[in-house]
Amino acid sequence: MKAAVSLGDLVARGLVEAAEAPALLPVEQSFRIRLSGAMQGAIATRDDPVARQFIPSVQELDIKPDESGDPIGDEVHSPVKGLTHRYPDRVILHVTKTCEVYCRFCFRREAVGDEGHLSQDEIIAALDYVSVNPAIREVILTGGDPLVLSPRRIKDLVERIGAISTVDTLRIHTRVPVVAPERMTEALVSAFETRLTVILVLHANHAAEFTDAARAGLRAMQRAGIMLLSQSVLLRGVNDSLPALEELFREMLRCGVKPYYLHHCDLAKGVSHFRTTIADGMALMRGLRGKLAGPLIPTYVIDIAGGFGKVPITPDYVVAGATPGEWRITDWRGGVHDYRDPHCTTDAQSVQTILQKA
Ligand SMILES: *Cc1c(COP(=O)(O)O)cnc(C)c1O
Ligand code: SF4
Repeated sequence: MKAAVSLGDLVARGLVEAAEAPALLPVEQSFRIRLSGAMQGAIATRDDPVARQFIPSVQELDIKPDESGDPIGDEVHSPVKGLTHRYPDRVILHVTKTCEVYCRFCFRREAVGDEGHLSQDEIIAALDYVSVNPAIREVILTGGDPLVLSPRRIKDLVERIGAISTVDTLRIHTRVPVVAPERMTEALVSAFETRLTVILVLHANHAAEFTDAARAGLRAMQRAGIMLLSQSVLLRGVNDSLPALEELFREMLRCGVKPYYLHHCDLAKGVSHFRTTIADGMALMRGLRGKLAGPLIPTYVIDIAGGFGKVPITPDYVVAGATPGEWRITDWRGGVHDYRDPHCTTDAQSVQTILQKA
């Protein structure tokens, strides 16, 4: 099936009613539409958890005052075009702005969708920055979706990054293995033959996105020695229930993918209908703990607006008691236990000491 790239295509494929289309025109003008063949095939009804992620809605025109064009602050820490250097030991490289699908909740929705990839000269300039900054140990390819590039271009990138002796790890943030599994060819898998440790971080949000072709592609990557992790976005009406998250993480592990991050939905423009509260997210994380095996449980994180980075949101299992070294700890069933830290001096001081030594 061909990708649907316009409102007209969505009407023709029966994914949008003709009568709804005029009201959606301003949405199409603001945020690009693209729905890959595989994801059209994964939609059972127009209102199901797959459809909701990709089919435009008039709610996207409702932009809240706190929402921004750069919610995670990519631009705040960009020393060279296409590169974001927020943390000392790793950089992200936006190699392209295109994707196989345009997610209606995308945190980079103002930046993605333009045609064109980073030029060869721009890639060389970005990698020059990496080679003169030896504290950088990892290059993370993102976009858009880096796996829309041809295997030949990817192989070239992998070789260039592998040639920087101070870099140990190459990471790829992608939705392609699930939304366009036909791209997971042998040529693509072999493009990642390198001395580097390669980590593929798969973005998927619902078990219904996984097809047999996706499972096969992920297994092929795993057999090639690539570490498979995931990131998901917590989305209202898509996966904000215990059964939906449980099925998603079980499906991932069946494909050899370790759930890594569950993102709180960012403050991108026009996505408030997808956003849960933080309290809901914490309750869901609490519900997963103990119910699911440890390797199935991701870290729930929020990206602080303005480019301050990701922070884990943890249910308050461990709270300070009346005196230093006294803790109240809640187990997965809700039972509360007192704990006395046998090594405690004064906690506030020891934390300061640890951070100062870093
Ligand atoms: C998310 C992100 C990373 C990766 O963070 P990890 O916690 O290592 O997964 C790196 N750089 C930027 C700018 C990011 O937004
Ligand atoms: S695949 Fe990623 S970058 Fe592309 S639209 Fe979806 S969330 Fe945004």
